[in-house]
Amino acid sequence: MGNKYKVLVVEDEANIRSFMETILETNGYQVLTAARGSQGKLVFSSHCPDLIILDLGLPDLDGMEFIQAVREVSAVPVIVVSARSDERDKVAALDLGANDYVTKPFGTAELLARVRAALRNSRGGTGPGSMPGGKLLIKDMEIDYEQRKVHISGQEIHLTQTEYNIVALLSESPGKVLTYASIIRGIWGEADSGSIKKLQVNMANIRKKLGSRPGHNQYILNELGVGYRMCTPD
Ligand code: CA
Repeated sequence: MGNKYKVLVVEDEANIRSFMETILETNGYQVLTAARGSQGKLVFSSHCPDLIILDLGLPDLDGMEFIQAVREVSAVPVIVVSARSDERDKVAALDLGANDYVTKPFGTAELLARVRAALRNSRGGTGPGSMPGGKLLIKDMEIDYEQRKVHISGQEIHLTQTEYNIVALLSESPGKVLTYASIIRGIWGEADSGSIKKLQVNMANIRKKLGSRPGHNQYILNELGVGYRMCTPD
């Protein structure tokens, strides 16, 4: 077992820290922990973890500052942990380069799913062209990057250019939430006051065309107040 992923957990609340440590160790990860941000930075630079789980509310430094410091030197995936009241912090953390977030209180399955998705994205295991011929399959939806076409169960879905671009952008990192701001930047470049509305209208049309409704054809998940997330292939 010499080839375990190394996960750094930076969290000041002892019970949450040991909860995460236990779950991760039980599931085959090597875990390093830090109760303070300054200690977390030291462990990060001396141990080069494969993933960082970072509580945004730390006693000694701002979680945003931690992310910035990490991003100056490394592309290591960062999952932020936030309280339900920190909606704005969550978005700011994602825009600073955090990969994903979990909201307290979270369960074992949710944490492990986020960890797996973040590690998979960082290895580039999925994404455009992971199937032969530049195709990606998510459940029964197939995205063909060469033809710029989307099929569900073999049936072509007629998307506009913009709608296709949004689907393709989200599909580049399945399982990862993209904030409204990052999608708008990726699709239209400069944001203006109508950008979020424009995105929501396009997304509503995409969902309708994909036949999405609660419990049915859910390929793109709406993360309320934050952004959108493409489901993972498995
Ligand atoms: Ca805290």
